[in-house]
Amino acid sequence: MRISVLKEIDPRERRVALVPESVKKLTAAGHEVVVERGAGAAAYFPDAQYEAAGATFAGGAAAAARGAQVVAKVQRPSDGEVALLDEGTSLVCLMQPAQSADLLKHLAARRVTAFALELVPRITRAQSMDVLSSQATIAGYKAVLLGAAQAARLLPMLTTAAGSITPAKCFVIGAGVAGLQAIATARRLGAVVSAFDIRPAAREQVQSLGASFVAAELVAAGAETAGGYAKEQSQDEQARTAAALARHIRDMDLVITTASVPGRPAPKLITEEMVASMRPGSVIVDLAAESGGNCTLTRPGETVVAHDVTIVAPLNIPASVPFHASQMLSKNVLTFLQHVTKDGALTVDLADEITGAMAVTHAGEVRRS
Ligand code: NAD
Repeated sequence: MRISVLKEIDPRERRVALVPESVKKLTAAGHEVVVERGAGAAAYFPDAQYEAAGATFAGGAAAAARGAQVVAKVQRPSDGEVALLDEGTSLVCLMQPAQSADLLKHLAARRVTAFALELVPRITRAQSMDVLSSQATIAGYKAVLLGAAQAARLLPMLTTAAGSITPAKCFVIGAGVAGLQAIATARRLGAVVSAFDIRPAAREQVQSLGASFVAAELVAAGAETAGGYAKEQSQDEQARTAAALARHIRDMDLVITTASVPGRPAPKLITEEMVASMRPGSVIVDLAAESGGNCTLTRPGETVVAHDVTIVAPLNIPASVPFHASQMLSKNVLTFLQHVTKDGALTVDLADEITGAMAVTHAGEVRRS
């Protein structure tokens, strides 16, 4: 089977869908891997490493995509890239399916089978294909570093000849994959960490990382879906959450917010009043910026200062750690490709729990968005 790796066209997207280590596994399994020249360069995977892994090269996207049974990339394709795909090709990438209705129609019309990486089911069997988890891990780690870099205070406790410094207080709101990694990272930097989530399972996970759990009385068994995700809170629950967060947040030096509800705008948990109550020089890093943000003052993609508090709202953080983000993403893509390959060829079994969930277009139809 010929698998092509395209170079991302947005210069801010520095990740690559398959790194040389994964390419080596694919070529060893008898597949032909064609890499668009320079596809891994922005993530520090040079062409020479792909060559050593058994890849061949194409000078541009058109040549790379021609004749491929599978095209792997990171971001959803542009119209120009869709036009390069042969009829019947399979495409594996992040698809943002809920915002891509026209793109999916376009892909279906070209009879492309498109797999949306973000639709991998959150089940144990699919964990090694789970890009949401792998990339959220990167985001949670980097969020703490971004916050620490903006903070007016140091994170660790220090006892020096120039005096003693008390550790910073870090508060993580939303203790899913990104939040738990943020807790671990802030603890490693020496901060005193607390966290809040509405899902009951989060409490023990937070405490096992050495952080304290805030407002445990607000955790509710009904806050979690069968799939382990949070549900949107009722108005009454929102008001009680806001009151608890307002009490806690005013003493914090660094707040990392990661709260989101799949398919919904991020809940607004930090109001301007709460920001104004925080210590001057403190920082909020809003990891929910992609879905609107958890703070009412957040401007996605920007850093703003309000009431002497810096609010950082980065977009696509994983692309800012391109080497390891690509390495992890590539492992997810490789495992998915191995999952859908039978006897050396890609087999689309829509009855399979993983394949069926991720296939957004197949045989000329848009299956889900
Ligand atoms: P997410 O990105 O959808 O949300 C981040 C966190 O925000 C979640 O923990 C959520 O409970 C929390 N949240 C939502 N509304 C909130 C509010 N109003 N206040 C405070 N917190 C709020 O979630 P995620 O990190 O992608 O994953 C969530 C959970 O899914 C995991 O912790 C786990 O239980 C499950 N999961 C399972 C697998 C697997 O089994 N393969 C893989 C990944 C995740």
